[in-house]
Amino acid sequence: MATDIVTPTPQKGHPKGLWVLFGTEMWERFNFYGMRAILTLFMVNSLLMKEADASLIYGGFLGLCYLTPMLGGFIADRFFGNRNCIMLGGLMMAVGQFLLFTSASVFSSNMGMANTLLWTALAIIIFGNGFFKPNISSMVGSLYPKQEKSKLDTAFTIFYMGINLGAFLGQLICPIVGDVKDAAGIRDIHAFKWGFLAASIAMVLGTLVFYFLKNKYVVTPEGKPLGGLPKHNDASHYEEGEAQKAVFSVQSLVIAAIAFVALFFLFRYLLDGTNPVKTIIYPIIYSLGLTLAGLIISDKSLTKVELQRILVIYIVGFFIIFFWAAFEQAGSSLTFIADNQTDRHIFGWNMPPSMVQIFNGAFVFAFAFPFSMLWDKLRAKGKEPLSTMKQAIGLALIAVSYFIIAHNVKDLGNSGLLAIKWLILLYLIQTFAELCLSPIGLSLVGKLSPKRFASLLFGVFFLSNAAGYALAGSLGALIPATGDKFKKAQELGIDLQGVLNKTITPTPEQLQLLDKNQISASNPVFAGFEIHNLYEFFMVFVVFTGIAAVILFLLTPVLKKMMHGVK
Ligand code: GLN
Repeated sequence: MATDIVTPTPQKGHPKGLWVLFGTEMWERFNFYGMRAILTLFMVNSLLMKEADASLIYGGFLGLCYLTPMLGGFIADRFFGNRNCIMLGGLMMAVGQFLLFTSASVFSSNMGMANTLLWTALAIIIFGNGFFKPNISSMVGSLYPKQEKSKLDTAFTIFYMGINLGAFLGQLICPIVGDVKDAAGIRDIHAFKWGFLAASIAMVLGTLVFYFLKNKYVVTPEGKPLGGLPKHNDASHYEEGEAQKAVFSVQSLVIAAIAFVALFFLFRYLLDGTNPVKTIIYPIIYSLGLTLAGLIISDKSLTKVELQRILVIYIVGFFIIFFWAAFEQAGSSLTFIADNQTDRHIFGWNMPPSMVQIFNGAFVFAFAFPFSMLWDKLRAKGKEPLSTMKQAIGLALIAVSYFIIAHNVKDLGNSGLLAIKWLILLYLIQTFAELCLSPIGLSLVGKLSPKRFASLLFGVFFLSNAAGYALAGSLGALIPATGDKFKKAQELGIDLQGVLNKTITPTPEQLQLLDKNQISASNPVFAGFEIHNLYEFFMVFVVFTGIAAVILFLLTPVLKKMMHGVK
């Protein structure tokens, strides 16, 4: 009888399943980014929230979206499998978007109901995203058998393009149908619902694509289904030792639980404020990240090399917080500025403000491959920078992008408009930064993690994204009054500049009037510094991403040693 041992010949090109995952993720990101583009504008214009509150809620929402993947990954690994979780997550997000559609349909007659629908919708989307996102990403990895793992970098680049093609389409369609102004610039506050409906339809399409094509294409080279129930998984697809699970002692779990509660109250105390997102959700995100990080390194089985590599992940994770905090102004403060103090004419067309962030997705789509080719070339010459160095470059680029914009808003005053080209340039530089940092971060975690802690360390890494988004919310809330506020105050007969400079003391009636019109009567304060104008606002981002870049740059030789041979 012929031998039973078959060495599978490496496949040419990429498995067809990659394109199914590409399409599914594309529609899902359409739904997510399309909704994000109009969400804060909906909260401010239809639900009459202040911009600062909308920023805080937005940051908390995004933060939680990156917290739940830990849960979704865990449930998939232990119980439901990747496939079921992807479909469940997709359906949940479609329902969440539909509830946003309903909220945006009823707010004018029933504000209370619209608010309840908003919170319910956001909660469902948070859990839907948690089921969907980690599972679709890990399926990309599992499409490739052991001997083809070298194709993973390209596979993830292709997948990252799918993400951003979806983001691009969502940020194109949802603003066109949902962010509508008439010729006089008056916004149709009832149009947002169509944007949410488009997002919901996109998610239904994504789920259907996956449902109908998965059995044919999302399979091993031998045609066996991938990502089914965990008990049916084919062990030959895993690296040796990979199945080993981390097991924590009861004692360390109890200590972790106590530490979590203590840290929660510490952050709650440090972040004092009145907004519950800031006093409950942000502390949960920060303290969970720290507790989990501590729990992993308390494991006695770790060798010294493993421990040092994990510490590198933590250090990089810490710096990444500042990256996302600055980068994620796109959906909040930068959208408000695009809305209120930007001349958005482009080739004679007045672009909807929520669409301006589309340039990020478009530029990623255009530059993802050139960037991965650049790294390949440099690697061939032995000149590829270390991963942590690339990340320092990413942070420095963010600082540069905000410096350019700060310089351009300096002389705008209360009524001048920023030319849209500067926001486009900002998104171009930030996209280069993202390509230096984001895909590289993921593969670095993959390479540095001991196998038995890999999923948990990805969890910690996503939690640093979550912390970054939470910080983004707090920082976005520092946005000072923009042109529209001064104009509105003038119509109300109030000299807002005088009030902000404290040269005029407003009457209680005037204060009430300002509050009713969502205008703050004092400048925001950050670490004891008052933010007087947009220039100072942007300089906050220049300073902290700049400092983070320099420190990470200086740490690189130390980190290189701690990585023990991993590039
Ligand atoms: N833009 C990417 C995505 O949506 C990465 C975002 C992130 O890692 N924080 O998947």
